[in-house]
Amino acid sequence: MTLAYGNMPLDRCTNQRKNKRWLSTEFNHEKSLFCVINDGMSLFSKAEALVPIYLSKAQLPTLSVDSCIYLGKGNLGRGELDNNKFNAISIFAIDFNKLRFSTQEELSEMGQWQGLRKVTANLSAIDASILAIAKGLVHWHISHQFCGQCGHANRSVEAGHARRCSECRNMTFPRTDPAVIMLVEKMFDDGIARCLLGRQASWAQGIYSTLAGFVDPGETLEQAVIREVVEEAAIIAEKPEYIASQPWPFPASIMLGFTAVATSEKIDISQDDLEDAQWFSREQLQGFCLNSTVNDNSESVQYKMSSGDSISSYLITAWLNKTIGKY
Ligand SMILES: [Zn+2]
Repeated sequence: MTLAYGNMPLDRCTNQRKNKRWLSTEFNHEKSLFCVINDGMSLFSKAEALVPIYLSKAQLPTLSVDSCIYLGKGNLGRGELDNNKFNAISIFAIDFNKLRFSTQEELSEMGQWQGLRKVTANLSAIDASILAIAKGLVHWHISHQFCGQCGHANRSVEAGHARRCSECRNMTFPRTDPAVIMLVEKMFDDGIARCLLGRQASWAQGIYSTLAGFVDPGETLEQAVIREVVEEAAIIAEKPEYIASQPWPFPASIMLGFTAVATSEKIDISQDDLEDAQWFSREQLQGFCLNSTVNDNSESVQYKMSSGDSISSYLITAWLNKTIGKY
């Protein structure tokens, strides 16, 4: 199983995209497509089916190549892409704010703007992955407009995969912040295996998720797993084992999924920002509903799984089905 946002099918053309002539040819190709990001949202058809709208160059008449971000090109010579709509087509991302006002109005008339995570369940794995990288890179450009060395304006270079200071020439590159996310399990004295899940106060009522946190500088991923579990729940864990990773450009992370085995049982959340953390058996987890299908009812706390597009949901489901973990 590939996790959501991890199905980017395009050849990123890393070696070619620095070549301005090559880039210009791709940019001007009549079949090239452009994916517009507006305040973090993507453009979809107005129909309920929510088909992502990729625009042609002809629909964006005043667009300049310097304001676009090259995402990649289809047709990797792989059979599964032969009938794909992205076959041999270059796809670019663009910030809505780089378009002239009349084009902005036309786009907003043409479709509807939706946040990607809200609609991922209705999208193909390929569309979700392409829209995710577009969203992440557009956000990176917006948040790195100025040089971190001298404070002068940065300019987009290398097909949107770097920004260079107009004054001191310092180069800034898109960053990806690693975060570990772990399914911690324990065999209790009553012979029942349980896993440790927590929730933050800002989440919708009842949602519980695996613990997670950013990797510190100078820390291995395994050390980060052990440290985060102690910090968030005061649980001692060992034997971290890597399971899978997931691009998470919301705004700029990669989630690195692990299992670990707890050697202590008593939870204490007083030292961190979790609202609650609990041990859950498989029997209890089977009572969790997908949160998107449950109506909130403030009178009764109903436990819910974290969002289906997340690696948290994947880890919990895999542990429930005994495909990961020791117990
Ligand atoms: Zn500078």
